[in-house]
Amino acid sequence: MHLPHQHYTAPSQCTHTPPPQFSPTTHYVPPGHHVLPPLPYAYNALEKVIDERTLRIHHDKHHRKYVEDLNKAELSLQAALTNGDFTCIKHWEKELAFNGSGHILHSLYWTSMSPSDSGGQPHPTTQAYLDRDFGGVPHFWAQFSAAANAVEGSGWCALCYNPYFRSLVILQAEKHQNLTQWGVVPLLVCDVWEHAYYLRYQNERAQYVKNWFALVNWPEVELRLAHFLAGRPDQR
Ligand code: MN
Repeated sequence: MHLPHQHYTAPSQCTHTPPPQFSPTTHYVPPGHHVLPPLPYAYNALEKVIDERTLRIHHDKHHRKYVEDLNKAELSLQAALTNGDFTCIKHWEKELAFNGSGHILHSLYWTSMSPSDSGGQPHPTTQAYLDRDFGGVPHFWAQFSAAANAVEGSGWCALCYNPYFRSLVILQAEKHQNLTQWGVVPLLVCDVWEHAYYLRYQNERAQYVKNWFALVNWPEVELRLAHFLAGRPDQR
């Protein structure tokens, strides 16, 4: 498979593939309704690398807690929205990010592993992207393992597809709770760094944010949403 080297503006040349066998969800989940997905293999299936006890605690205790606390955060934010009381917004947004990312990343971690030996050979589309973006599997693995080994403290290493640049990228997440839910696609973003408003508003960020609403480009938000929905037919 040939992939462009400089301009990635053409639609992805990936052939259509079915959605992964297992993800946090492939359907809409109402607030507070996330469930711990079952492991797609037995707890002792990865013994050659990861022991049964570790896998059982990791999945049934750690991942379960993320799911429970994600539900709690979503329901608390729903209550705040209903009551119009956002005094605890920072707390619940942090909980939403920490536990949402924990749920998503663990779900992806379980299915990033398989008891059957894949032989270390990527399938054709993955191979083409790894060739273009890293110069082949050995180079990809050199960077991935170096990045994984260099994560400070607890964290993650992830091979990601960047839909904006249409390319693969290896990223570290040193603290997945740093206010994002990994895997999300931003649709509407407001820059609240001081450089975005300071000359006119100085320290009055709230006034800038209030005025900013009048600038929102809703047709563009609609286009972005439709674009990513079209690219992910399993999401709705
Ligand atoms: Mn974990």
